[in-house]
Amino acid sequence: MNSYRIFSIGLLFFVFSAIMYAQKTPVECHGQLKIEGAHLKNEHDEVLQLRGMSLFWSQWKPKFYSAKTVEILKNEWKCNVVRAALAVDYDGYLTHPERELKKIEKVIDAAIEEGLYVIVDWHDHHAEDHLEESKRFFEYISKKYGEYPNIIYEIYNEPLEVSWSEVLKPYHTEIINTIRKNDPDNVIVCGTPTWSQRVDEALRDPIQVENIAYTFHFYADSHRQELRDIVIEAMEGGLPVFVTEYGSADASGDGIVNEAQTKVWWKLLDKYQISYCNWSISDKDEACSVLKPKSSIEDLTKNSKLTHSGKFIKEKLLSAAQINCDE
Ligand code: MG
Repeated sequence: MNSYRIFSIGLLFFVFSAIMYAQKTPVECHGQLKIEGAHLKNEHDEVLQLRGMSLFWSQWKPKFYSAKTVEILKNEWKCNVVRAALAVDYDGYLTHPERELKKIEKVIDAAIEEGLYVIVDWHDHHAEDHLEESKRFFEYISKKYGEYPNIIYEIYNEPLEVSWSEVLKPYHTEIINTIRKNDPDNVIVCGTPTWSQRVDEALRDPIQVENIAYTFHFYADSHRQELRDIVIEAMEGGLPVFVTEYGSADASGDGIVNEAQTKVWWKLLDKYQISYCNWSISDKDEACSVLKPKSSIEDLTKNSKLTHSGKFIKEKLLSAAQINCDE
């Protein structure tokens, strides 16, 4: 081997090592998360915005609860967070606890393997009626996974029109206490009244515990400036808002993809560095699903299999993606 060849191989090795070093996973970059003031921060005290995708209800789209989905969302969609939506009602966890739990664990295990953050979502509209089941679930999850920085607990997806102070705050307090016995620090996101839109009610009566955020959800073709004003009021008032779910079409998950209104929302979320996950990884025949009907997990890599919203959302994720830790 001549010296030129040795030099070339050495150079290649150096470049390869540099690339590998630069491509740290999101969790390697940011580590243990925390809430300070209105913001999510990483372990270096920098404000961090998570962007990613939510899976669909676990009982209705089980095929996407797979390590392969998480791998593709990280490598091809450049997500730094994925949301696993544990279906509670409608033939979900209440009737099939083991079956549904396994799906969630599969996604959590894959997120840990891939170095992504993972939102463990109690996907329920009546969680105050399922307090014991919810406690049992979060007791198990926090004991098994509480040591991993990857985990974010979302303890009540979308409450209906119930009182924040009299119904939701007591529910959240019980679940927070359950989690904190096993996991002293990971972020817990708390659902707010009216399908997680009334973060202003939480602003007036916040939960006095560290590392808590508050859920806000929107569907861009239904929800406009009136709700954006609520988010602004909360953030300006120092309340940490976390958009664990949003859609680019209407509140039913269907209708038309409203690109213009979604962009207005993104501008607001990016301005305040609010984290967000899009609804959803699914091939259901509706506007908010990113895949066309009868698609497979691998189809997430093919633009021809993506819906209008699929292409639109993926483009945003790619354009916003972090390449290096310090960006
Ligand atoms: Mg922890």
